[in-house]
This record gives sequence, C-alpha cells and structure tokens, in this order.
Amino acid sequence: MSRTATPTDEPAPEPTASADPRWRFFTEDRTRYASPWFDGRHRVMIGFGCTSAPWYTSDPRCPGSQGFHHGIDVAIPCGETLRSAVSGRVVTGGLGSAYGAKAFRIRTAERDLLVAHAQTLLVGDGDRVVPGQPIAEVGALGAPDGCHLHLERRSVGGGVSSATDPADVLALRS
Ligand SMILES: [Zn+2]
Repeated sequence: MSRTATPTDEPAPEPTASADPRWRFFTEDRTRYASPWFDGRHRVMIGFGCTSAPWYTSDPRCPGSQGFHHGIDVAIPCGETLRSAVSGRVVTGGLGSAYGAKAFRIRTAERDLLVAHAQTLLVGDGDRVVPGQPIAEVGALGAPDGCHLHLERRSVGGGVSSATDPADVLALRS
C-alpha cells in the first residue's frame, strides 16, 4: 500500500555527523557506544585515569610522564545534543578554564556530574533537569583536541581530587 508523500512526511535528514579533525584517540577501544547522555554512537577518546594523552601534567600516580584524566572523553561532533541521564540541579561556574567557559555540574543527592567543553547551554544555573532532557550542545571550549563530552564525577561540591571513574554514570553500551 502506497500513499502520496507530502513534505511533512519526509523523514528528517540524517545529521551531518562528521569527525572533528582535531580528535586524537588515546585508547585501543574502537567501539562506537550509545549512552543516555548523547544521541547516536561514539568512540571514547580518553579514558579515566592514567593516560598517555599529552594534555595533562605528569602525575605521581602514573607511570613515566603520564598524566591523570579525571573524566571520560567521548568524541562527538560539534553541536550535537547532550542529555542528562539523571535528575538533579544545574550548578554553573566555579570550574577551571580547562573545562571551558560553559562547563557546569548536575548536582544530585549523591554526587556532582561535571559536563565540560560544551559550546551552548540549554539550561541555566539552578534549573532542575530530568533524564532525557537536552542540557547542552557539544563543543570544544577549553579543549585542545576538538569537540567532545568530558564527563566527570565528583563528590557534592567537591574539587577535582574527589573525581572517581564515571563509567557507571556514562553507561556506555555497545
Ligand atoms: Zn576530558
């Protein structure tokens, strides 16, 4: 059975998701993952913990001159929508310039989830967010290596030293 297509019946065009030429991958993992934080499937660029990525000062916890990465970086084209995977309250400000001028936290009862390098915020300080809600557009503010999501988990109000592996929150699935 066929019917006449009208313009409103046209499927939405595929997003022009293109690789960012600035991306550099410091993991052997080439899997493209889905996550409640973003649409589509994307690769991890830098994992949590010691890394050979050159963007971080050497850390005594790590071998050689390796630095310590306090979050997980997922390479996502500029402008893609980021969504909250949790319920919480938006807290802006108070983060270093390396996180980008529009970095913010989503504060839950148990932890702060820090979203860095966004180029556009879709929420404001004090806003309540719920799972699935668009919160920002992926950007490269403060980042030397292209557009990506840096997701970091800290204690509530905690500094970078309180960061722990956010893998469970990022909830990547292959
Ligand atoms: Zn990062």
